[in-house]
Amino acid sequence: MQRNTLQNSLILEMVNKLKCHATAEEIYAAISVQYPNISKTTVYRNLNKLARDGKIYKIEVPGQADHYDHMRDEHYHIRCLNCAKIFDIDIEFVNNLQSSIKDAHGFVVNGCDLVFKGICPKCKNIIRGE
Ligand SMILES: [Zn+2]
Ligand SMILES: [Zn+2]
Repeated sequence: MQRNTLQNSLILEMVNKLKCHATAEEIYAAISVQYPNISKTTVYRNLNKLARDGKIYKIEVPGQADHYDHMRDEHYHIRCLNCAKIFDIDIEFVNNLQSSIKDAHGFVVNGCDLVFKGICPKCKNIIRGE
């Protein structure tokens, strides 16, 4: 197998294994435990490629690192304001939300990044002092 293909499938495997909307930094950390020779640039580059190819889903959070999701079907996320972790939420996905925009100021709309926010159960307990 080609070296690039091998790295690519290795990184995809790790995203599938982590199942936690990990950031590139976290994915790199997990991979480098097993493969200390792999460079951060390689991991970042391959994550972007996998997202472009539709093999993983990239969640862009303004002002924060991107997260990568092994689930490729469209679904919504919620971000904890305390620990910054991303979770899936079970809510019906609105297809073509952009088609209901009345006035896009001449924009060609390509989609939207909709991430809900809140406090996760774990942090809620910490804040409460439980
Ligand atoms: Zn939290
Ligand atoms: Zn998700």
